[in-house]
Amino acid sequence: MGYCDECRDETRWLTVSQAAQLVQRSERTIYYWIERGFLHIRILPSGRGRRICERSLLQKPMEEDEEEHPSRL
Ligand SMILES: [Zn+2]
Repeated sequence: MGYCDECRDETRWLTVSQAAQLVQRSERTIYYWIERGFLHIRILPSGRGRRICERSLLQKPMEEDEEEHPSRL
């Protein structure tokens, strides 16, 4: 758990793979959402790796998602 400045509330900070599992999307989709600025992220102090705000992930409107090359069946 931790505090998200953007949510102004407590959230869980997930790895990309945890985030992907939570919403049943590929990790690539998660990275795509990060690039688009849909998700709140926190860079680890080491500068390697990042964590994703669970609240921003769950609040994201799933209808609008979609990566450039959907691979879902
Ligand atoms: Zn947040």
